[in-house]
Amino acid sequence: MMDSRSRHELSKQIEFLSGIRGRHTELVSVYVPAGYEISKVMQQLKDEQGTATNIKSKSTRKNVLGALERAVSHLRLFPNTPPNGLVIFSGNISDKEGVSDIQLFSLEPPEPISVRIYRCDQEFVIDPLKELIEEKDIYALLIIERNEATIGTLKGKNIEMLEHLTSGVPGKSRAGGQSSVRFARLREEAAKEFNERIGEHFNRHFQEMEHLKGIIIGGPGMTKDKFVEGGHMHYELQNKILGTLDTVYTEEYGLRELVEKAEDILADLAITEEKKIMERFFKELINESGLAAYGEKEVRHFLTIGAVDTLLISEDVEKYRVTIRCENCGYGKEITVDENKLKEIEGKLSSMKCPDCENLRMHIGEKVSLEKEFSELAESMNSEVALISTETEEGRQLMLAFGGIAAILRFSGEAPV
Ligand SMILES: [Zn+2]
Repeated sequence: MMDSRSRHELSKQIEFLSGIRGRHTELVSVYVPAGYEISKVMQQLKDEQGTATNIKSKSTRKNVLGALERAVSHLRLFPNTPPNGLVIFSGNISDKEGVSDIQLFSLEPPEPISVRIYRCDQEFVIDPLKELIEEKDIYALLIIERNEATIGTLKGKNIEMLEHLTSGVPGKSRAGGQSSVRFARLREEAAKEFNERIGEHFNRHFQEMEHLKGIIIGGPGMTKDKFVEGGHMHYELQNKILGTLDTVYTEEYGLRELVEKAEDILADLAITEEKKIMERFFKELINESGLAAYGEKEVRHFLTIGAVDTLLISEDVEKYRVTIRCENCGYGKEITVDENKLKEIEGKLSSMKCPDCENLRMHIGEKVSLEKEFSELAESMNSEVALISTETEEGRQLMLAFGGIAAILRFSGEAPV
């Protein structure tokens, strides 16, 4: 699990790397996944060196070859692939034409990466790193039986087992010679001690954990209920218990079973949260506090100036932010379109004149979903993002009455006309 410091450091590196643009297609990104052989990557880069000798432009060729050379010699420093894999960025970062400044950035990700990438482009490939630091809600999972306990997490769709504990609680049949009363007391004692130990281990895993949304507890029979009633967890954690469920299995199987059975609990929780956020928005709207904003243009403006506390965006918004660009003079214009409009524009591009240079060289440049554009904008300004489904009446209203985009503001301000 990534702590907040490594998350912060990685996010600073990502910000720095995403700011770098090559003058030409000459920036090399290499992702070596955890467990993948470095020598194979090295071979691939050598092959790429061969291909790069065919690049027409002399300066681009020189820079790409230089970037690959740096990457290969950096890889030689690693006898083995680091435990979480390795990411290398290499290329000419000089912004002066004709001047070459080849730099190499290397990092060992704080969590295992599973993608293998080689790309030579005008920018570095950083999306897989971004995914690593995306803040995902975490649920703590606990399965308790009389003789064992399993502790795990649910993060996104990933279930991870953190620990499996076994007790010294003696079985039901006693050894000969022991009085049954004494034996029952011993069993009771041992069970209590085990519960305390589970509590301690559980606290150790979760007390400091960020983004812990809730705790789900499973197990057969009454043992789990006794554990909950016994208050063996830290009280802050105790307050995060979302429910207990009957399960049969332990360890990985048990965790999977628990998550399957918890589906309703988690769905209800998501719906409740959506409703709460929508209610906050409506409250601000009625208050005329100026802390409610809606509509694409208005919300984009407030996002850009860092005024948004929480961005509300409907899952049903199916639009794109597209840049129409002139290949001749570089003129560009950003527009928001749906799928149909985009097709219509694509059909007309060949007869579209550039408003600046009047050439017929217009094409579609960057294309990104509105949801992604807004979410990234929000992230860069530390605004919260709430994706709102249309499962609730409030959610449908967001889509129908407000175009699917709204915001609760930190401070009010003049909206753009
Ligand atoms: Zn033009």
